[in-house]
Amino acid sequence: GLSERLQQVMSRIRGKGKVTEADVKEMMREVRLALLEADVNFKVVKDFIKQVSERAVGQEVMKSLTPGQQVIKIVKEELTALMGGEQSQIAVAKKPPTVVMMVGLQGAGKTTTTGKLANWLRKRHNRKPLLVAADVYRPAAIKQLETLGKQLSVPVFSLGEHENPVEIAKRALEQAKAEHCDYVLIDTAGRLHIDEGLMDELRQMKEAVKPDEIFLVVDAMTGQDAVNVAQSFHEQLGITGVILTKLDGDTRGGAALSIRAVTGAPIKFAGMGEKLDALEPFHPERMASRILGMGDVLTLIEKAQAAVDEEKAKELEQKMRTATFTLDDFLDQLGQVRKLGPLDELIKMLPGANKIKGLANIQVDEKQIARVEAIIRSMTKEEKMHPEIINGSRKKRIAKGSGTTVQEVNRLLKQFDEMKKMMKMMTNVPKGKKKGFRFP
Ligand code: GDP
Ligand code: MG
Repeated sequence: GLSERLQQVMSRIRGKGKVTEADVKEMMREVRLALLEADVNFKVVKDFIKQVSERAVGQEVMKSLTPGQQVIKIVKEELTALMGGEQSQIAVAKKPPTVVMMVGLQGAGKTTTTGKLANWLRKRHNRKPLLVAADVYRPAAIKQLETLGKQLSVPVFSLGEHENPVEIAKRALEQAKAEHCDYVLIDTAGRLHIDEGLMDELRQMKEAVKPDEIFLVVDAMTGQDAVNVAQSFHEQLGITGVILTKLDGDTRGGAALSIRAVTGAPIKFAGMGEKLDALEPFHPERMASRILGMGDVLTLIEKAQAAVDEEKAKELEQKMRTATFTLDDFLDQLGQVRKLGPLDELIKMLPGANKIKGLANIQVDEKQIARVEAIIRSMTKEEKMHPEIINGSRKKRIAKGSGTTVQEVNRLLKQFDEMKKMMKMMTNVPKGKKKGFRFP
């Protein structure tokens, strides 16, 4: 992923003290490669790198203590913006029903997605959709939609496979009006390649039913090809949104980025599986993380940056190094960590956390932390600086003051002692050998 690439560059740059424009250029080269590997269109990558470079050579990065992370953050922000920032919603016609045409190549997932969308509208928004079987070419296409309709208890309009699709769409719209349906979802035919006959038919249908949305359904696994497909459909039909399917596969999702950049049409939903509830509103930010190949570590970095005072962090680090870390500092650090949010949530955001068995179900006892804080607060200044003076009677007093027990005070003192020993050991490790993500 991109984070590893940038970390490698950073470890080369590190010893130099200052980040130069040439260093940023080197980082950009890595970003460029990572994006191309994620199957992002090369023209899109070129423009993107230009944009990011401008921000990266600015003060933001050069003066930062962590330029690598700073660059990743900029890249992610720009990627998110490129994919449309906030996720968008489905249109609502002023006068119902809202008409939606589903278009795309054969096998992209149009029929399945039409069913998923009906399910989503009905379950999430309590809407009344009508499914329309307008793919009269593919054998069994009508049957497929009817089966989905039955599974969902959603009505399906069909005139068999001998009627003209434009006529089917028109008549379906009339029925939807008569039956007070909110949404008309038209499943159209696809071909293996873009084809003039198909486009003609879709244009006529558009003219006849005046859809509020034309959703292009695109298989995310098709990568670069998806961009060309999207471009032609957009030129000929004017799509209003894109639904990316098969994102549950192992695609990096670079197509998502290119499609948005090339057509300007927002990606509205993501198909995450074959089941009918496997449809999610599209989240540009999550897709950006996916393209960069780094889980939610960015959200974590951002949270940490917002919560941890940089000066304070440096001060603490210095104290750890010189082993002058006191119980007061410990209290301080607990407070900083708690500002980040529930600890169990934070742990889940760590890279690779989902691969560690049991970690997903970890429960961090927030109450326990509160008790530790109470114990430290019940100590005198002297005690906090020199815990070794805490004898039996002091322990009793502290336990009473904090509403805890002597055993708990003992446990904390022992843990703190061990922590200090560990810090000493850690700070004695030669610098280059420290590995992995440094938790602030
Ligand atoms: P159409 O030709 O565009 O109507 O495509 P279909 O709806 O018939 O889907 C083609 C195949 O893709 C079917 O086997 C679907 O189950 C599968 N499919 C559709 N969407 C998804 C998805 O989001 N994830 C996965 N894994 N498979 C999907
Ligand atoms: Mg189909």
